[in-house]
Amino acid sequence: MSFEGGGWKMGRLFLHGARLLSRGFCSLGSNRISVCIVGSGPAGFYTAEKMLKAHQTVEVDIIDRLPTPFGLVRYGVAPDHPETKIVANQFSRVAKSERCSFFGNIALGSVISLSELRENYDIVVLSYGAESDRSLGIPGEDLNGIYSAREFVWWYNGHPDCFNMAPDLKSTDTAVILGLGNVALDVARILLRPVSELAKTDISDHALASLQDSTIRKVYLVARRGPAQAACTAKELREILGMKNLHIKIQQVDLDISPSDEEELKKQRIQKRVYELLSKAASSPHCPPAEQRELHFVFFRKPDRFLPSENGCTVGAVHLEKTFLEETGKRLAVGRGEFEDITCGLVLKSIGYKSLPIDGLPFDNHKGVVPNLKGRVLSSYQRGHEAVEHGLYVAGWLKRGPIGIVATNLYCAEETVASISEDVEKGLLTAASGTPKPGRQGLLQLLENKNIKFVPFSGWEKIDAKEKMVGQQRNKPREKVTTWEDLLKASNV
Ligand code: NAP
Repeated sequence: MSFEGGGWKMGRLFLHGARLLSRGFCSLGSNRISVCIVGSGPAGFYTAEKMLKAHQTVEVDIIDRLPTPFGLVRYGVAPDHPETKIVANQFSRVAKSERCSFFGNIALGSVISLSELRENYDIVVLSYGAESDRSLGIPGEDLNGIYSAREFVWWYNGHPDCFNMAPDLKSTDTAVILGLGNVALDVARILLRPVSELAKTDISDHALASLQDSTIRKVYLVARRGPAQAACTAKELREILGMKNLHIKIQQVDLDISPSDEEELKKQRIQKRVYELLSKAASSPHCPPAEQRELHFVFFRKPDRFLPSENGCTVGAVHLEKTFLEETGKRLAVGRGEFEDITCGLVLKSIGYKSLPIDGLPFDNHKGVVPNLKGRVLSSYQRGHEAVEHGLYVAGWLKRGPIGIVATNLYCAEETVASISEDVEKGLLTAASGTPKPGRQGLLQLLENKNIKFVPFSGWEKIDAKEKMVGQQRNKPREKVTTWEDLLKASNV
């Protein structure tokens, strides 16, 4: 890959390298601890911040497969939630600190291997999140018009892997969203919010244009369990229920709760609040004008199969099976053998994200996480026979599964850093040979040998400045650069 037009040349890489090296690497002396964090989302940045604070001789390199930092803050948080993105300022201060460097455009697993990182750094922390999706494994899942919510979120947030997804929002008036977590509420809100409001956010230009022409007026949120088990939180639910000109439909019968539900709600304050909000919305009087949009909450229905439309290749309906809940245990949804269809032209599966394994990394395929003990990666995790991979740690969704808000990663990072500090204290991370590992210098050498170009933080700042400048002209906080090629061009330093 060469970007001569944009002035992106290999020589620049080494200029950066020299600059990075002269910026502190040598000054840390022989006690230097080299740390590489893979993934620059909230878990990665909180880990970097805590490590830098905890150890004055630590030097932290953060690598990311994307040219841009901040992971879920940039590509996961909804465009109409700008306050959640403010944390990026704090992460920028971390990236610009003397002992920290960012290396964008470096994909672990393809550009660089885990064993190469471990050879070069005393400590490797993996916090690359969950970039894939759980699947339903039911017939018809490959039909056109069915996407994971992650792909849809990436599309409207201008992620370079989904900029050309182009979901058809013009051939149907109905979308079905499967799942009732906060991501499901995010995508429902984006489909239903007036475009005039979205235009003031950092939503990507292509998504805004498509939503402008959207004919979708009805959105169904389908949960396999009941309103007492909804996975969303009260704040997010209140927001969507309070949207102007949105007609909320909830069947009263779905709100009947069993004694077991009542017991569950007594123990879960947020879920109790969610249930109360749904009950209140169901009983509010409605008098919808003709042009009003509708949001239907459908409970106790699980997807059984997707049915094609007349053309045979696009989704035409979701075939749902009615469910009831096990009274005890995990309160799983059990099929009743009764079915019904919702006709639709768009389906978003919002049933959870999934982390991906890489070569050389122990991985629990069932749970979709790296087996770990408070962030220490375990190569063997049978109870009583746990074996630790020295120098290898995890944080974030890769460590605990795809749950929690941005701030959850703060506590998660704290725990991992506490484990690292304990291991440093015990002398467990000293190289067996006694020779210090090369750290950043080794990484730069490796990238040079492989002829790999990386985007330093200053490259991201160029992208950032360009996005903000174009955004200002369009009355929005930023206009995201949405293709790999343009991102690399814009990062030119
Ligand atoms: P989630 O909260 O785990 O919700 C997943 C939903 O999918 C649940 O309703 C679940 O139902 C359902 N589901 C799972 N497997 C299913 C299947 N096979 N068939 C039908 N339904 C299925 O996941 P998420 O919405 O992707 O959110 C991920 C995390 O990010 C959450 O912790 C969320 O709170 C957080 N987040 C926060 C915000 C915010 O704070 N504004 C925004 C976005 C995301 P069951 O309960 O029956 O399993």
